[in-house]
Amino acid sequence: MKVDLSGQVAIITGGSRGIGNGIAVALAENGAACIITGRNTERLKKAEKALQAIQPACKGVALNVEARGEVDALAKEIYETFGRIDILVNNAGITDDQLLLRMKEDQWDRVMETNLKGTFNCTRASIKYMLKKRSGRVINISSVIGLMGNPGQANYAASKAGIIGFTKAVAREFARKQITVNAIAPGYIVTDMTEKMEEKARKGIISLIPLARLGSIEDVANAALFLSSEAASYITGHVLNVSGGLYI
Ligand code: NDP
Repeated sequence: MKVDLSGQVAIITGGSRGIGNGIAVALAENGAACIITGRNTERLKKAEKALQAIQPACKGVALNVEARGEVDALAKEIYETFGRIDILVNNAGITDDQLLLRMKEDQWDRVMETNLKGTFNCTRASIKYMLKKRSGRVINISSVIGLMGNPGQANYAASKAGIIGFTKAVAREFARKQITVNAIAPGYIVTDMTEKMEEKARKGIISLIPLARLGSIEDVANAALFLSSEAASYITGHVLNVSGGLYI
């Protein structure tokens, strides 16, 4: 499959590391100017430099996706600078695991604010600029946990299931404008988020995955690249499961 994103502008939240960074690299390698965001400015600068070596127009911008004003201002600035926003990847996300009866209100709120409200904030801010061109791609990073649940992750599962409902509603709302909205539901992918896992737990998880390995960042980046491409122009409201068969 040949993908040509040259001239296109992509925003990837949480693009400073992990899956978001892998997606930014894949989009930049195929010509897109990628604007990556994150809260840690040092990490962001490093990632920006590496991306600029691939596509000089790439940029790293500090942003907390929970802060609606900051998100609106950034989308406006990107539109004023580049004259377009073609692709938005809502990837920024956190976990804060706890069994339900011990889960503090703050743990629930934080995960919902970053994962679900962050996705709402960034989509609302960017899609209005996609409307001007009557084309665009929104890709929301959900999780298989949002489809199948997991003990100790009620907050995370609810936020990721919420992203799927959000994806389907927004897909229906903007399809007439030729803006597609899809979700990717990764399984267990090797990143900082899953690095914390103990060896025994890791082996236990691999034993449940039909393809018998954890996923790589590239596995998810390839799916995002496909959904960003012309080849996926007739796909909207879909949840693409990248889990090695963990969820079928
Ligand atoms: P990482 O923890 O490695 O990276 C998370 C990224 O999100 C970082 O760039 C972080 O930057 C950014 N981020 C976190 N909170 C905020 C915030 N409030 N505002 C802006 N940026 C923020 O995560 P992964 O790469 O593992 O995961 C990426 C996405 O994929 C997440 O949505 C996750 O839920 C999802 N996912 C991951 C799976 C996995 O196995 N790894 C499986 C299924 C889904 P900084 O810290 O600088 O803010």
